Amino acid sequence: MTIEGQLMRIQTWTPTFKPEEETPFVPVWVSLPGLPWHCYKKEIITALLSPIGKVLYLDNASAQKTRGSLARVRIQIDLTKEKQQHIWFGYDEEDLTRGKWQAIEYDNIPDYCNYCKHQGHIIQACTIKQRDEDYQKRKEMEANKKNKPKGEQEKQDNTSPTRREGKQTDIQANENAQVGEEKEDHEQG
Ligand SMILES: [Zn+2]
Repeated sequence: MTIEGQLMRIQTWTPTFKPEEETPFVPVWVSLPGLPWHCYKKEIITALLSPIGKVLYLDNASAQKTRGSLARVRIQIDLTKEKQQHIWFGYDEEDLTRGKWQAIEYDNIPDYCNYCKHQGHIIQACTIKQRDEDYQKRKEMEANKKNKPKGEQEKQDNTSPTRREGKQTDIQANENAQVGEEKEDHEQG
């Protein structure tokens, strides 16, 4: 809706809503190559693309049918969802096998990070995620340092054969050894 010339968007409130997060819903252009000529209609394309997102409008050439090769559609998609490259276009409501796979080509989709909920990068490149993981790791290491002094760990690993009999204690010893190594790396670096 529009209020005093400004476009307003109404979202359902959720308990996890955070105003600093960016919406994953963005308008993008998609092309539908080889779409049958008689289907260049908003109602038909809206129905066809309903699993992908909400159709906003067709470009002029599509709406006026002046370009036969493909239809171009402005559509609102959810960036957190997988981008479907094809969609089944059924010709016959009774015979579901009659139809074809319609290709969907997307123009420049912005990256979206599912971790910090911002556009512009993917989760693998998220510096906030990296920071949180580093913090978490450091916290765990601090906790380990407090609970198990290093000297005692080494003693357990090397000189107490009774602790090495059971499978359980073996795993425990390995874990301790690893933590000890990590700690040393950290202190040096
Ligand atoms: Zn991020």
